[in-house]
Amino acid sequence: MADRMVTAVRAVVGVLPDGEPLYAPFGTMVIAGPVAQCHLCGGWFRSVGAHLKAHGWGRTDYREALGLERGQSLEGEDTRRRRAGAMRRRRTSDSAVRAGCRIGREMASSGELAWAAASAARGRRQPEQRRRKTLRTLASISPRARAEGTTRASVARLRDVADRVAVAAGYDCLGDLVRERVAAGSSLAGISRESGLHKDWLTRHLAKVAPAAAHDIAEAVSGPSPVRHDVKVSTTR
Ligand SMILES: [Zn+2]
Repeated sequence: MADRMVTAVRAVVGVLPDGEPLYAPFGTMVIAGPVAQCHLCGGWFRSVGAHLKAHGWGRTDYREALGLERGQSLEGEDTRRRRAGAMRRRRTSDSAVRAGCRIGREMASSGELAWAAASAARGRRQPEQRRRKTLRTLASISPRARAEGTTRASVARLRDVADRVAVAAGYDCLGDLVRERVAAGSSLAGISRESGLHKDWLTRHLAKVAPAAAHDIAEAVSGPSPVRHDVKVSTTR
C-alpha cells in the first residue's frame, strides 16, 4: 500500500453481523484532511475506494455494509477535489457525459429524480447515516411544537370542510345543520354521508368544529328521552 499514511495499533470499535471487526464507527466515514479511514483494517488512505480491492470489496457493497449513503465519498479531501475537478472537465468535453447530465437535469426538473430517489429509498433499507440525519432533524423540533403545528393546521382544515358542508346545505354553520338533523332522527353517520363526508367524520370531528352543538347533541342522545341517533342511517351519499 503505497498511500498508507499511518501504521499504529488500532482499536476495534464495532463488528459487522458476520463478525468482521470494524476500526471506524458504523454509519460514519472518518475523513481527516487528505486521508480517509478504512473500516475494515483501520488504515488511512487517500482513496479508501481504491484500497478496497485489497479486501476484495467493491465500493457499493462497502457503503451498504457500513451503513453509508450511496453518495458518501470514500476519499480524502485532495482526492475528492481532484475527482470533482476531473468530472467538471469531462462534463464540458465528453458528449456522452453531457447527455447524461442533461437527462439528469430534465429528470430533476420534472420531479422524476425525486420520485426515483424516493422509490429507491423505499425499496432498500435506509442507510444508517441518512437515518441518523432524519432523527437529528426530528429531534431539533420539539414534540410539543410539532403536535401544536399539526393540530392547528388540521383543525383549520376541518373548519373549512364544516363551513363548506353547512353552506351547501343552506345553513349558517354546521352546528345548526347537525342539531336539526339529529332532532329529526338522523344519525351522525347518516348526516356525514348525506354531506358527502366519511361516515365517521362527525363522530370524530364535531366536537372540534362545533363544540356547542356537540354538547347539545350529547345531551339529546343521552337524556331522558334520547333521540335514536343510531337507528336511522341515511342511504343517500
Ligand atoms: Zn482496509
